[in-house]
Amino acid sequence: MLIVKKFGGSSVANAERIRHVAETIVKSYKEGNQVVVVLSAQGDTTDELIEKANEINPHASKREMDMLLATGEQQSVALMAMAIQALGYPVISLNAFQCKITSNSNHSNARIKDIATERITNELENKNIVIITGFQGINRHLDVTTLGRGGSDTSAVALAAKLHADLCEIYTDVDGVYTADPRVVKTARKLPEITYDEMLEMASLGAQVLHNRSVELAKKYNVNLVVRSSMTDAEGTVVKEETKVEKMLVNGVAVDKDVARISLVGVKNEPGVAFKLFSILSKEKISVDIIIQSIGRDDRKDISFTTTREDLERTIKALEDNKERLGFNDISFNDHVAKVSIIGAGMATNSGVAAMLFEATYDAGINVNMISTSEIKISLLVDEKDADRASVAIHDKFINDDLKL
Ligand code: ADP
Ligand code: ASP
Ligand code: MG
Repeated sequence: MLIVKKFGGSSVANAERIRHVAETIVKSYKEGNQVVVVLSAQGDTTDELIEKANEINPHASKREMDMLLATGEQQSVALMAMAIQALGYPVISLNAFQCKITSNSNHSNARIKDIATERITNELENKNIVIITGFQGINRHLDVTTLGRGGSDTSAVALAAKLHADLCEIYTDVDGVYTADPRVVKTARKLPEITYDEMLEMASLGAQVLHNRSVELAKKYNVNLVVRSSMTDAEGTVVKEETKVEKMLVNGVAVDKDVARISLVGVKNEPGVAFKLFSILSKEKISVDIIIQSIGRDDRKDISFTTTREDLERTIKALEDNKERLGFNDISFNDHVAKVSIIGAGMATNSGVAAMLFEATYDAGINVNMISTSEIKISLLVDEKDADRASVAIHDKFINDDLKL
């Protein structure tokens, strides 16, 4: 079998863990498999590199940030190759440049365009274990790009798709996908399987166990994907097209802390204001998530929306630059907020769901700032300090009662 195995940062955090992972890799190789390994940077390396950059220039260009951040993954692959050499097995480490993992030029959030597999297949034919840097690509100018935080999952799935791998295993610090973050919600349950679509919802709404783009790619190329632990042999979660699991009203709870709220206070209550506002943001390539508009009083109203924390500063600047055109009184913002979502089919058709959701937050004494609903999810904006408590309360309400409406 050709297997792609991806190990996240905590799985390769120190020498002991690298040795442990090296043994896992060698075991699979000895069973007769062709093994391609994708690695993240060790432990908190990526965060530390960002801190280092901020000390020198908090407004550094994204190109230079990518140049810096990509070094984390390069350290990991070389160290892992050394650990496998020490065990006496043939191995080679490669970076994105060497495997021609090409991407677009959207630095810090690039998308993989293609991977030239020749080098990798040659190395596999020469009986090598191949260790490849996750998270990075190269653009058409041969500049280094990165794929967004958590992007090593996407590197692994893209490689699995392109190499027609029989299996893509994502090894991490939990033993599968749960109904909520198992570190926060102690009663969360491990799912033996989950559909690509449900996983995509969970990932897009903040469950960082898989990078959302990796799930999109897995669905598109029908990659046989498993999430499992790098520390234990426990059976993981299979992510696939269809599952046999009985459908529950709510499949899971996800929390996204990369959220900032911005309010334009006292904009003119006349047609075209929202159009002007969101055109300005779209021109700046700022993506907006939840939007609410208050009912106007007199000739004024408020418009609030959320963006990522990274985009907050740029958003405020774009709004201030257009103050006259938009005609508002004030801007207020809060970047200590979080989005808590419940995911499941039939949100829209079950009127009881919203009531239960608000009962859960009310009982927990949590104030809800904004709400957004769709067919398959309801999201609440709460203060960041309340987010974990909210996810426990909501999970207990919907999932622990085994509710099936
Ligand atoms: P890695 O470094 O291996 O890529 P991540 O930290 O990116 O690991 O993702 C694993 C983490 O995702 C877990 O430690 C867990 O806290 C978090 N997580 C959030 N939601 C879920 C969920 N629904 N199921 C499992 N883990 C989740
Ligand atoms: N090292 C990168 C990050 O911390 C990519 C990854 O871990 O997937 O986001
Ligand atoms: Mg990750």
